[in-house]
Amino acid sequence: MEKIKMDDLVNYCKNYGFIFQGSSIYGGLSNSWDYGPLGRELKENIKKCWWQKFIQENPYNFGIDSAILMNPNVWISSGHVTNFNDPLIDCKNCKKRYRADNLIEEFAKSNNVTIPVEGKSGEELVNIIKSYNITCPSCHKNDFTDIRKFNLLFETNMGVTEDTKNKVYLRGETAQGIFINFLNVQRSMRLKLPFGIGQIGKSFRNEITPGNFIFRMREFEQMELEFFCKPGTDLEWFGYYKNFCLEFLKELGIKKENLRFRDHAKEELSFYSKATTDIEYKFPFGWGELWGIADRTDYDLSVHEKGSKTDLKYLDPITNEKYLPYVIEPSLGLDRTFLTIICDAYNKEVLEDNSEREVLKIHPYLAPIKVTILPLVKKYHTNKALEIYEELCKFYNISFDDAGSIGKRYRRADAVGTPYCITVDDDTLKYNTITIRNRDTMEQEKLNIKEIINYLNKNIKF
Ligand code: ATP
Repeated sequence: MEKIKMDDLVNYCKNYGFIFQGSSIYGGLSNSWDYGPLGRELKENIKKCWWQKFIQENPYNFGIDSAILMNPNVWISSGHVTNFNDPLIDCKNCKKRYRADNLIEEFAKSNNVTIPVEGKSGEELVNIIKSYNITCPSCHKNDFTDIRKFNLLFETNMGVTEDTKNKVYLRGETAQGIFINFLNVQRSMRLKLPFGIGQIGKSFRNEITPGNFIFRMREFEQMELEFFCKPGTDLEWFGYYKNFCLEFLKELGIKKENLRFRDHAKEELSFYSKATTDIEYKFPFGWGELWGIADRTDYDLSVHEKGSKTDLKYLDPITNEKYLPYVIEPSLGLDRTFLTIICDAYNKEVLEDNSEREVLKIHPYLAPIKVTILPLVKKYHTNKALEIYEELCKFYNISFDDAGSIGKRYRRADAVGTPYCITVDDDTLKYNTITIRNRDTMEQEKLNIKEIINYLNKNIKF
């Protein structure tokens, strides 16, 4: 089995209709990506899994879909306007640009030392770089510019005039839309603590070092849950969600040896956080953050209470205590999950007859196409195959392939992770039976046409 390299993965995604370079006919737009027919399906299936486990099956949690454009005071109160900055540093020698914190973190990782960077000023970061003699990973010189702070929020104007009064921001995370609706949801759904509010949607960050394909993008999607609980119970819920999130990734089929927790050391924590952990995945370019899970205390609600002058406290109906709940936030990037799933599932296998097959061993529920229908001989079996196609496409996203030998058609289906191929042959015409082939075992079974839907329902669920 051979693991995929990043360049091959980009080509694979393009060739099979998962992801295309954005605006490609105009020469592209830096780090923008368009999801193609199969990519859209996979993305949608990931969202459905998250929603099912975090909202639908969870009696404590509720979903919303808040606006991307919000009152700019939301971002002033949350601290994003002043603090949502990346420290930009350039190598004077080779002109490569870095995020100073990332440069230090990478150095710390490869030298097995802990160097806290969270909340450090530009000057402090420069001093760290100097004192550890951290060099440019590209040209190995230690000759950097000073650090410039670069705010990540995208700005735009609302209405017809372009002046500062009309300045609004594209949301930098979905979480703030949840915090500002805390009371709306609690009251309208008559909720008692603890409860969670989740949402899935686009976020925008003017990243200074986007890259690694869809790992770091300027426009991306997040799946975030804010779980509100009584202060004092927060660390218990933090532990609960840490475990729940890891189990979720394993249920998606991601190999556990490619996942790990990275607990943030005390010195690394944001000033408002009691505990933070990242779930990291072993990407082809190294370990990288996939999921951030944090105990954010009552920081977010308290800044919005102050900023909006609205009482956001929760009144406990039993004890009559009034307080701001603490929040546990598991925040997952959808595009990074997509990348993880493809990296983890992609294989090149050498078969018994020494031929090679490219196969995406993805969870059947995630597969963009669930079944492909193959008439064995175009001339004789197409009509019957189309009849089956028309019935099954009411329930699943399926495809039809009558081009080339059966072997080639199997390979095409394997390459995009289609878990089942249904072949229509003479037996179908005579006895109403089809052959269904399993992508992973490559074994085939005969089924009566009437049994297909039950078979699929049994095998394609999350
Ligand atoms: P990083 O340190 O990598 O910039 P972060 O700690 O700022 O990430 P969070 O603000 O905690 O990230 O966002 C939560 C999740 O959203 C991340 O774990 C990641 O999966 C996803 N995410 C964040 N920024 C991006 C991005 N630019 N492109 C794609 N996904 C992102």
